[in-house]
Amino acid sequence: MDAKRVMPETVAAQALGWVDDVTKAISPPIHTATTFVRDPDNQYRNGRVYARDHNPSFDQAEAVLCALEKGAHAALFASGMAAATAAFLALKPGNHVIAPKVMYWSLRNWLMNFATQWGLQVEFIDMSNLDELKRSMRFGKTKLVWIETPANPLWTITDIAAVAEITHAGGAMLAVDSTTASPVLTRPLTLGADIVMHSATKYLNGHSDLIAGALIASAESEYWARVKAVRAQLGGTMGSFEAWLLLRGMRTLFLRVEAACRSAERIADFFSRNSLVSEVLYPGLKNFVGHDIAARQMLGGFGGMLSIRVKAGEAAAIATAANVEIWKRATSLGGVESLIEHRASVEGVGTPVPSDLLRLSVGIENVDDLIDDLDQALIRGHGG
Ligand SMILES: *Cc1c(COP(=O)(O)O)cnc(C)c1O
Repeated sequence: MDAKRVMPETVAAQALGWVDDVTKAISPPIHTATTFVRDPDNQYRNGRVYARDHNPSFDQAEAVLCALEKGAHAALFASGMAAATAAFLALKPGNHVIAPKVMYWSLRNWLMNFATQWGLQVEFIDMSNLDELKRSMRFGKTKLVWIETPANPLWTITDIAAVAEITHAGGAMLAVDSTTASPVLTRPLTLGADIVMHSATKYLNGHSDLIAGALIASAESEYWARVKAVRAQLGGTMGSFEAWLLLRGMRTLFLRVEAACRSAERIADFFSRNSLVSEVLYPGLKNFVGHDIAARQMLGGFGGMLSIRVKAGEAAAIATAANVEIWKRATSLGGVESLIEHRASVEGVGTPVPSDLLRLSVGIENVDDLIDDLDQALIRGHGG
């Protein structure tokens, strides 16, 4: 299948139309070999030596990710964190990087507590303030700008094209954590980003049964070679079965994300008119800061993630989560089942997340069931 001539839904559904040359099977085999035979003249002409680096079970999933993100190269990792940290560890000690204040908590923790000790100079800024970004760029020192959009868990929107322009003018690369948007809704490389990162644990796999990550690059580079070396040498590689599961999950990516978007819009609209809720945070709402940018850079929907702030405060928020019957009280996102969590409890001391906030990951259940369940949980959470 020529990915340039078909729509992305088609690429995903057929995993690029892969058919096994020998058996004509339409689903790829799971290669479990750890090692590959050398040619008699001591060469490795087929390009594979050892599976930590060259697992054939990665090929199709990486090709599909490249096609969906319109990138040149993709690399699967054992988790989203393995992918994200590889993007930073491929830099050099002494390099300066800029990241947003509002971002995925574990990665922010790692940047603060590990990356700095390793030698990176890490600066956290308000990414929606482009002047602050311009002021923070240090020509020759800043090598990477990291953004996440929509960003956990306030769904802050960052203008990818505008940030890419400033980043490149400052001599740095732009990496985008596009986990919550998924390639269905945003293609950062087409907006000027150099690297896209996914926690494939979330929408890409979509079934809450796999930890996985990926990086996709716009072009071959010395930096990308270092990313691949970090993967092979630190060993954050995915298993063969996991790569196969991910490929299967991605076949339904578009249906799942489209369903989640439609339902999230209904839920956001319903609860923004609920007297027990002080605020609904969802990029699809017209009064949401960043809505106009989201409408421009997101394609066909605003995502399946939203947060609600419970007017009566933290205790009522926790009690609301305690009273759901259909939503699952759990962290993570992007699965077929809807999840609710009191985010500040997950992030702990020092979190910038308001204590009255409940983070919602909308799945593919019937939307009226989801609305009714959250509505009754809010009432019971207030002693009703
Ligand atoms: C989950 C997540 C990660 C980390 O991915 P893992 O697969 O859990 O390691 C990074 N960024 C975002 C936005 C996430 O939601």
